[in-house]
Amino acid sequence: MLIVPEALIADLVSPEDAYEAVAATFAAMARGEAYNFPVVREALGEGRQYGFKSGLDRAGGMLGVKAGGYFPGNMARGITNHQSTVYLFDPDTGRPVAMVGGNLLTALRTAAASALSIDRLARKDARVLGIVGAGHQAGFQLRAAVRVRKWERVIAWNLHPEMLPKLAEVAAELGLPFEAVGLERMVEAEAIITITSSPAASLMAAHVSPGTHLACMGTDTKGKQEVQPALVGKARLFTDEVAQSVSIGEAQHAVAAGMVSDADIVPLGAVLTGADAGRRSEAEITLFDGTGVGLQDLAVAAVAVQRARERGLGVEVSV
Ligand code: NAD
Repeated sequence: MLIVPEALIADLVSPEDAYEAVAATFAAMARGEAYNFPVVREALGEGRQYGFKSGLDRAGGMLGVKAGGYFPGNMARGITNHQSTVYLFDPDTGRPVAMVGGNLLTALRTAAASALSIDRLARKDARVLGIVGAGHQAGFQLRAAVRVRKWERVIAWNLHPEMLPKLAEVAAELGLPFEAVGLERMVEAEAIITITSSPAASLMAAHVSPGTHLACMGTDTKGKQEVQPALVGKARLFTDEVAQSVSIGEAQHAVAAGMVSDADIVPLGAVLTGADAGRRSEAEITLFDGTGVGLQDLAVAAVAVQRARERGLGVEVSV
């Protein structure tokens, strides 16, 4: 099996690669060619979470699991709060194929999913991007979003304002005017990305204008929440995986409140295959509930393995 360490990933997988891999995976899921296994996610105490996301893409020859979690104390130790590793297996034999560092891959595949939703669901004339959150993932989200629309400016809010300058640096690097704003100013945005680890809603229905696209990317566990359920209830809902959206995604709260059910939520893959037309009007609020699926992880890890093999990189071991 090939070990592809974290340090190699940046040279092996680009944001464009991640975008293509995630789009192909969502489409394969929508065609029923690939499926995710139920997520295992456990609280370890003191805010730490650990779990396993896995799946099978038979046509793509991918079987595997991402083991990883969220360790909020890591920043103080100089390492990122997310720590994960992807393991790939041969779907015909079960033999291990590769072990791949999953930290950068997670950020790339998450930002790719968000950008994909913006590309397919936001209005074509969207020019103001709102970001709620300014942690590790936020910069990746912004970098991916610039690839799919011609943004004229970025407005951002974060509960901890001292984290915003780092996001402002990314915007400056991308040549985009950046302004830290109160949540009430999010009405100026035509697309809003939420990427926080919040346990309670920050973004309310009153903060969002008609016609806005929301990419809600932070809620990936039971108990997290970024958006007011009433906003979820009035939006047209899309997701990566319906089963995850209603249980560990942003929709969990609106489902619990009886405002929406599984039948109201469309897999983004159905938009990619043309089975669903996506946005129906300029005034509709669309919301992508990006919960993060195992198949996304396998898809980007497979790209890393293929590139590493082509270039003779990584460490081959017998197991
Ligand atoms: P981080 O720890 O670097 O940053 C956390 C962010 O959440 C910061 O912006 C912080 O200010 C904000 N925050 C913390 N407590 C809050 C509260 N009570 N109210 C509002 N905001 C609060 O985390 P990160 O790596 O940027 O990840 C952000 C979130 O995205 C996490 O919840 C993570 O689990 C999730 N995530 C989801 C996916 C996916 O596929 N959907 C993938 C990766 C990460």
